[in-house]
Amino acid sequence: MSAQKTAETDPALRKDDLIVIAGAGGFIAGALTRRFHEQGLARIRAVDKKPLPEWYQRVPGVECLSLDLSDPDNCKRACEGAAEVYNLAADMGGMGFIERFRVECLRSILVNTHMIEAAYRAGTRHYFFSSSACAYNTDLQKDPSARALKESDAYPANAERGYGWEKLMSEIFCQEYWAERGLETHIARFHNVYGPLGTWDGGREKAPAALCRKVIEAKDSGKLEIEIWGDGTQTRSFMYIDDCILGIDMTAHCDELTATPINLGSAELVSINNLVSMIEEIGGVELARTYKLDAPRGVAGRNSDNTMIRRILGWEPSTPLKEGLARTYAWIERQYADRKAGKRTVRR
Ligand code: NAD
Repeated sequence: MSAQKTAETDPALRKDDLIVIAGAGGFIAGALTRRFHEQGLARIRAVDKKPLPEWYQRVPGVECLSLDLSDPDNCKRACEGAAEVYNLAADMGGMGFIERFRVECLRSILVNTHMIEAAYRAGTRHYFFSSSACAYNTDLQKDPSARALKESDAYPANAERGYGWEKLMSEIFCQEYWAERGLETHIARFHNVYGPLGTWDGGREKAPAALCRKVIEAKDSGKLEIEIWGDGTQTRSFMYIDDCILGIDMTAHCDELTATPINLGSAELVSINNLVSMIEEIGGVELARTYKLDAPRGVAGRNSDNTMIRRILGWEPSTPLKEGLARTYAWIERQYADRKAGKRTVRR
């Protein structure tokens, strides 16, 4: 474990300082809210545009506001009195969503544009932005065995159309608010995050959750087959949610990382075919595979080069994929059973 500062150990942060978390009705920001609450931070304001009953989790004792943060007045209301602001609000989903809804993805730029201005005006000390590996130059990701991406590989820029360009532009906002106005910003480029309490159905889910659900459905229906998007050779790395939120906390409290985008991802590369095999093993089943070659499949290969995070934080995401998948599978299996029984489940 690294000796890096976190919200709990940063001497500049008092327990009653106000922390604002945007996108808290969703997966990652919901988990971050829980982490900060469990660390004893007494004043947390969680914000999301979703109506409160639709939030993936709501932490007791946390102020929860349903506000559309693409509106500047709502951002002002959200950031009032904030010592730290974490912006994880974005219209996003897996490849199926970000390849089809580029306009929606681009429009998330409004959230960061207004949130960072509101945070600046509110005198916020730290501003965190969740960027993505989709900001990297896609020319470097044309081969399943492509080398891992290091932070400098975002330029010359040729990001994922829509979603990736929005992330890149918002990163630049964060860098210029620091350079010109002295607002201390922090930026992490997440590589595929998965885990319990994430989206697992409805069109916005990402590969690990979608494949867990498909294996569970196949077992339940007795139709022992699975459809895979693309030819299954595409490669990715997947970061477990607990690693992600610890990484956010350390990145946001590291002085050396001010206005400096950093990879936050696992370096355990896996092909989609191998990911399916791991999930089949967890489910104790073997399925006949069909490949939907015209489905959205994203880049051919992408991995996280963790040289910089190891050097600066002395840490990197390290939950083994098999371990994280087993926990995620078990959670989705319970969600699936709950939904069948007519109970309330996590939904978008
Ligand atoms: P999520 O969809 O579960 O959560 C995002 C939340 O933002 C949603 O609850 C949504 O309602 C909210 N939101 C969207 N627009 C809003 C608006 N105008 N006002 C207020 N709230 C709004 O997604 P997530 O997986 O938790 O992702 C969180 C952040 O991490 C996003 O910025 C995403 O781009 C980034 N990211 C995620 C991954 C991943 O694998 N999950 C990878 C790279 C980057």
